[in-house]
Amino acid sequence: MQESDVLIVGSGQAAKPLAPRFAAAGLRVVLFERAELGGTCTNTGCTPTKTMIASARAAHVARTGARLGVHSSDVTVDLEEVVARKDRLVEEWRAGIARHLAAAGERVRVVRAQARFVGDRRLDAGGDTYHAPLVILDVGARAEVPPLPGLASVPWLDNASLLAVRELPSHLMVLGGGYIGCEMGQMFRRFGASVTIIHRGEHLLSREDPDASEAIEGALRREGIELRLRSAAQSVAREGDATVVRLADGSRVRGSHLLLALGRRPNTDGLGCEAGGVALDERGYVEADDYYATTASGVYAVGDVLGGPQFTHTSWDDHRLLFDLLMSPHKPRRSRHARTIPYTVFTDPQLAGFGHNETSARAKGVAFEAATMPFGDVARAIEVDETAGTMKILVDPGSEKLLGARLVGAEAGELVHIFLPLLQAGIGARSIVDAEFVHPTFAEGVQSLVMRLKRYALTG
Ligand SMILES: Cc1cc2nc3c(=O)[nH]c(=O)nc-3n(C[C@H](O)[C@H](O)[C@H](O)COP(=O)(O)OP(=O)(O)OC[C@H]3O[C@@H](n4cnc5c(N)ncnc54)[C@H](O)[C@@H]3O)c2cc1C
Repeated sequence: MQESDVLIVGSGQAAKPLAPRFAAAGLRVVLFERAELGGTCTNTGCTPTKTMIASARAAHVARTGARLGVHSSDVTVDLEEVVARKDRLVEEWRAGIARHLAAAGERVRVVRAQARFVGDRRLDAGGDTYHAPLVILDVGARAEVPPLPGLASVPWLDNASLLAVRELPSHLMVLGGGYIGCEMGQMFRRFGASVTIIHRGEHLLSREDPDASEAIEGALRREGIELRLRSAAQSVAREGDATVVRLADGSRVRGSHLLLALGRRPNTDGLGCEAGGVALDERGYVEADDYYATTASGVYAVGDVLGGPQFTHTSWDDHRLLFDLLMSPHKPRRSRHARTIPYTVFTDPQLAGFGHNETSARAKGVAFEAATMPFGDVARAIEVDETAGTMKILVDPGSEKLLGARLVGAEAGELVHIFLPLLQAGIGARSIVDAEFVHPTFAEGVQSLVMRLKRYALTG
């Protein structure tokens, strides 16, 4: 039995900073990783997708340059090169993580093996048994594989395997119109594939207000992506070289490749949670209180395995909340549910937001004052011809407190950060009106949006 101070399972976005910080505090850490270092974000999520989306955007800008008076004939995408560039960058990140962990010295030991509970804070991995008073689960999630009739008989792809495809699909069918389906669909369309997104909901990105979803739908349709909305896949089958998806209305979609983008499932199967006394919910996610404590004493969980929101920055933020809870008992405890979690869908235009949209505010009975503005009203957007999108802000009618925003437009993922430090500092929307913004910038458009709130109409 190997005794240690902390066992961390998974080298995801929380584990990477946690391990060296525990070591710096004098604790001996064992970190288990069964696959590549860095988890989903580094290997099959953010880094590779955003790297490849950059290539897709370059192709799109080159093809559509004529609108700016710039003509280039014969734009071709070499998918081999695109994938090789992505692989290089991913490898650099992985190596960086290995160096970062090694720099923590002997107190951090990395065990490249699957870990599994065999008792109270006891884990088996790579033929050894490990014990520590503190165990942290950062095991993440992977693509959901639905019980779809016929799926076992057709080749299908998930977010990991699609990123390794080196020959352009002639027709990519995407099951699921969430953020992964939308990002991947647009990327492959821009590489030159025909793309159909099949989505059971009324709109893509089902949790968004309809106007935000429609802005994304319009952009995807204009690029030639076919959207099959309100369409649930009933079964799939192989016909010659093609895969055929049969939809609930009896129609069929025929394509060369099938991507599953129907949500995520937690990596708790194979973790032996029962032996460790760690309770799971009905979907297999770890049950934890506001402060990451699982049902097993001394065992905590962070990141995607908590069931959402599933973002890299959330898992990273989990690490510092948990570290303070465990190592700085004099600091006020911060609940993981008392944060505002922003996000971005990296389509083009991007969709970024935080807090409430109109639908969620109404559902929760939250009073709000809202303003909307087409992205095409922003001077900068007109100048660079990136006018697609729409913006919306919600504030508390009494206090001017920021309740939420949804920005669909160019660089929306950057723009949303205008709000975040204000939120953290408890500052209301008025400060955005009073500040002097640079002309002509997209950010100036966010100020114009806020000035469209009725309360500022006369004073702004
Ligand atoms: C296609 C795609 C694009 C994405 N894009 C973005 C984005 O742009 N921005 C963003 O914020 N988020 C994005 N995400 C989400 C983001 O990748 C995840 O939220 C984040 O990686 C979660 O980190 P984590 O710490 O929970 O665990 P992960 O990063 O998933 O790491 C878990 C690790 O645990 C290991 N593991 C699991 N079980 C065991 C075991 N029993 N023993 C040993 N090791 C184990 C796994 O191998 C894995 O390495 C994307 C996800 C996908 C799929």
